[in-house]
Amino acid sequence: MGKKFQIPEWAFEFHGHECPFMPIGYRMGILALQKLEVERCKDHELHVFSEMGIGHPQGCMQDGIMAATGATFGKGMIDKLFYGKVAATFWYPGKKGAYRIFLRNEFQDKLAPHEFFSYRKKGIEPSLIPVEVRRDIVDIVLNASDDELFSVTFLPDFEYQPAKGSFAKAKCEACGEYVFERYLRVKNGKIVCLTCSGHQPDEKVFYYPVILS
Ligand SMILES: [Zn+2]
Ligand SMILES: [Zn+2]
Repeated sequence: MGKKFQIPEWAFEFHGHECPFMPIGYRMGILALQKLEVERCKDHELHVFSEMGIGHPQGCMQDGIMAATGATFGKGMIDKLFYGKVAATFWYPGKKGAYRIFLRNEFQDKLAPHEFFSYRKKGIEPSLIPVEVRRDIVDIVLNASDDELFSVTFLPDFEYQPAKGSFAKAKCEACGEYVFERYLRVKNGKIVCLTCSGHQPDEKVFYYPVILS
């Protein structure tokens, strides 16, 4: 067995509970930084395309990815693709291509019979699972090798153009609230916000800028 991987305590505090997936995501993020040969991001460098969806616990991994890489949701550096797969692609400006990292089926199968999941399947939340059970499954993750956990694929042709940041905004001519320009719409000759345009919450938002000047 190799050296036990270390995850800073603040990452567990940030995530809120001890589960196996935040640590898996943390390790995936560190591996991505190593593959790309870059440091943890301070600003808006790395971009992550997470294939995870909703309603499966592996989504916790995304908190680990954020903690390890600094590519946070708030800075707009994670896009969710909703494929329902335990994988993410990591792109960094100025680097050729990107790396896709997948949590191996074999490792997913190795974790599945753990007692942690018997509690989860009974609807017991991770923070209410006995501490020794939680620590045991986290240790399985921390003691595994990168190779046991992940398959890594280099995507040489991957290209990405991040959205250009803009402070341009206007007041909606119906409700009066400020709106950033790419979310403005024209309705009956007025510049309005999405809600005042009659947009339904489940409709996909297409980003076409209304040119303000
Ligand atoms: Zn979790
Ligand atoms: Zn409005």
